[in-house]
Amino acid sequence: MTIIGARPQFIKASVVSRAIQEVRGLEEIVLHTGQHFDANMSDVFFNQLNIPRPDIQLDIHGGNHGEMTGRMLIEIEQALLEHKPDRVLVYGDTNSTLAGALAAAKLHIPVAHVEAGLRSFNMRMPEEINRILTDQISDLLFCPTDTAVKNLENEGFEVKSAKVVQSGDVMQDAALMFAEKAIAPTNVLPETFILATLHRAENTDCPRRLASIVNALNKTHREKAPVVLPLHPRTRNLIAQQGLTLDIHIIDPVGYFEMVWLLDHCQLVLTDSGSVQKEAFFFGKACVTMRDQTEWVELVDVGANELVGADESRIFEAAERNLGRRIQDSDQLYGGGEASNRIVRELLRADA
Ligand code: UDP
Repeated sequence: MTIIGARPQFIKASVVSRAIQEVRGLEEIVLHTGQHFDANMSDVFFNQLNIPRPDIQLDIHGGNHGEMTGRMLIEIEQALLEHKPDRVLVYGDTNSTLAGALAAAKLHIPVAHVEAGLRSFNMRMPEEINRILTDQISDLLFCPTDTAVKNLENEGFEVKSAKVVQSGDVMQDAALMFAEKAIAPTNVLPETFILATLHRAENTDCPRRLASIVNALNKTHREKAPVVLPLHPRTRNLIAQQGLTLDIHIIDPVGYFEMVWLLDHCQLVLTDSGSVQKEAFFFGKACVTMRDQTEWVELVDVGANELVGADESRIFEAAERNLGRRIQDSDQLYGGGEASNRIVRELLRADA
């Protein structure tokens, strides 16, 4: 049973689902928790990426983290008792990930975690708590990078019975598989532009950081190059609540094919997203990351990503420095598009 609920998980699961479908006799049941539910945050990905329709559709979203995770735990447990899967597959670091892994582990159903071992070492991030706990109760840990493997070694996973596999990153599989499907968004867009995304709680839920980022985006748009931002619904609400004004090119969240087009045509990526940092690299674009830490440290090491936090002038200056800078993509860092096949091979081996 695949348990997913948030936008990046749909994209990650799509490529693994394809690899699962190639194995005769291997059945996948999909449970969607409902964490992301807007058509442009959920349905569009099922349609574009051909993800199997959810067999179980929960409707759990909103509320505090504990409330959301608790409600998911109750309903996922029911679904697991009913469907009795041989294994549960969870992705990434959201509340859906933790709830799925915990419900399964308590029922002694083995859990495989795709994107295991990533760490920001910032325990104030909800994602960091979700990843650490999910890794602890998984028996198959699919690490996207060498750094993720090392993180698990440092936490003592070498001597645990869990199996750690350097699988490569499923997001590279997706970028390679769907690059040729790029579709220009229907919005009227400037010819040259910076692509921005903004949704991390550490930025959006902190009024000081949010205001500083909004100022930086406005100044960059005004003085350097137009900034196009597909705006996450959470961020939209929080910006309105704080009485801030984003004076840039805002569009509604787009499907993955449109996102791939934007990545391919932009001059620079400015983001606080995990996946978008890597996608910039896959499309040969420099990335300025508006966070204090990143889990994708190898991109900083190779000079593809500049980490600038939420400071207005640091963001503006880094955008200025990196505008139009091309990056040499490499197959070395993220597995070269073979992650989903490796994952399915290991699943079959583990559960043979
Ligand atoms: N994405 C998309 N449409 C958008 C914004 C993002 O398809 O309007 C894609 C993006 O390319 C990436 C995934 O959604 O593949 C990342 O989601 P997000 O940034 O929300 O999550 P994170 O990676 O930070 O967990």
